[in-house]
Amino acid sequence: MVKRIAAQHRSPVRGTDAPLSANAKRVTVLGAGVAGLVAAHELERLGHRVEVLEGSGRIGGRIHTHRFAAGPLVELGAMRVPADHLRTMHYIAELGLADQVREFRTLFSEDNAYYATDSGPVRQRDVPRVLLEDYRALLAGADYREATVLFGARLLAVGEAIGPAEFRRSLREELGRGLLDLVDQVDPACFLRGRDQVDLHAFFAAHPEARTWCGGRLARFIDDVLSETSPRLIRLEGGMDQIVRRLGERVRGPITCGQEVVGITVRERDVLVDLRLSDQVVTRRCDYVLCTIPFAVLRRLRLHGLSESKMAAIRGVRYWSGTKIAFHCREAFWEQDGITGGASFTGGQLRQTYYPAVEGDPAEGAALLASYTIGEDADVLGRMPFAARHVAALRELSMTHPELLRPGMVVDAVSSAWGQSWWSGGAGVARWGQDALSCEQERIEAARPENRLFFAGEHCSSTAAWINGAIESAEEAVRRIHRYQPRPHRIAVCPTGVRPLNPGEVRL
Ligand SMILES: Cc1cc2nc3c(=O)[nH]c(=O)nc-3n(C[C@H](O)[C@H](O)[C@H](O)COP(=O)(O)OP(=O)(O)OC[C@H]3O[C@@H](n4cnc5c(N)ncnc54)[C@H](O)[C@@H]3O)c2cc1C
Repeated sequence: MVKRIAAQHRSPVRGTDAPLSANAKRVTVLGAGVAGLVAAHELERLGHRVEVLEGSGRIGGRIHTHRFAAGPLVELGAMRVPADHLRTMHYIAELGLADQVREFRTLFSEDNAYYATDSGPVRQRDVPRVLLEDYRALLAGADYREATVLFGARLLAVGEAIGPAEFRRSLREELGRGLLDLVDQVDPACFLRGRDQVDLHAFFAAHPEARTWCGGRLARFIDDVLSETSPRLIRLEGGMDQIVRRLGERVRGPITCGQEVVGITVRERDVLVDLRLSDQVVTRRCDYVLCTIPFAVLRRLRLHGLSESKMAAIRGVRYWSGTKIAFHCREAFWEQDGITGGASFTGGQLRQTYYPAVEGDPAEGAALLASYTIGEDADVLGRMPFAARHVAALRELSMTHPELLRPGMVVDAVSSAWGQSWWSGGAGVARWGQDALSCEQERIEAARPENRLFFAGEHCSSTAAWINGAIESAEEAVRRIHRYQPRPHRIAVCPTGVRPLNPGEVRL
């Protein structure tokens, strides 16, 4: 499957692996996340000379696989790839990782996992029945077909489980009658699976126009919700960071960590990059720069020579926070509870709990992704000190899984609060509330170069907050850099030969 999908996606410029040419450019890439590494790799294939400067102590950025000491691994950043994210699938195949591809089991894929309701957790197999009554009350006696009400209840359940707090507040209203009036006309009965489950993926695949019925705020949310709960999600056995590690190995130019960029000055023919190296700031003159630093970080740097519209884009792009908390458990105790994978919607502060597949020796224990939150929920946990955050997670999750309190069950804990991270300032760009036109305008402005300063990163893409978007943006930037024609030096003829033009002088 991977190879077939990979074949459909082409590298940014045909005829890659070009020899070093006279037109080769020296490009400094800022940031060694997936966008920076893909760009570096593709630029070299086109014959350009590349160096990568990374501020933190590791490559990969928001792809971050944590390995517990003598134990299992857990993904603190990206953890799954929708199979229709062709760019990501292309690199997985090209980097020789196709053999590591495994199914990723997500929310609502495990009947025995839990779903938090007002009256306590219920097994997911019972969710439709429980939520149906709740949803009917919301509709206040409206006369819809049974399948239509099941459709709405299912969408509400998924939205409640995935949506951030600021989104959930208006969800019930937005999933109300306006949408159901339209859904009722197409009758979702043929998308029923079993007695009371509506297959939302099949419904939206058959009725793509239904996305527009959902209104501006919901339309983009539905896309991400469908991606996150897709039955066609994959993961990489051995860790998602294999993608960035293998990309890093392929880049021939230097990749240097510990190079924090603190300022950028755009000039007509070069770019100055200020780097903080231990206790001093040094300025590097660069021919071309590709900046993949997230805008949430870039906006706090000293920026000079950029246009007003670019500065407005850098300041204006909105990021979601995201926090993950994971436990190294002595054993996969949830298996005795009938849970073989997937995820629970635990509600409360923790929102989602994932049961990753056990890789390797079960004697080394199992990783539990105790909590995955986004938006305000993520900030609440993210602002807590590490130890308090882990204690809060243990206390809350033990109400659903009391086994966690058995002596020695939790061996270790780790977490990552991306909204509070110095190197990302957020988990990803959030465009859920925006209409399609303003999203596209924001993307175009984010990706637009300023003289020899180019931009990439998920924030410059049409698929923000996904690896696929980061790769898309890298490919676009590579095309732009490759095709960039430096303007010839302006020279003036003088009786004794030629000399460079003075500022404002015109060629004779
Ligand atoms: C919790 C979480 C879950 C996610 N889940 C998924 C998922 O399941 N599937 C999926 O496809 N995507 C997922 N994503 C999104 C995906 O991880 C990102 O979209 C993608 O990795 C972003 O890549 P990037 O190169 O644009 O940015 P980054 O990975 O952030 O790279 C930017 C790099 O710049 C560096 N940098 C920052 N500031 C400076 C500075 N001042 N000087 C020098 N270097 C600097 C950073 O350290 C970093 O290495 C998730 C993200 C998070 C946070």
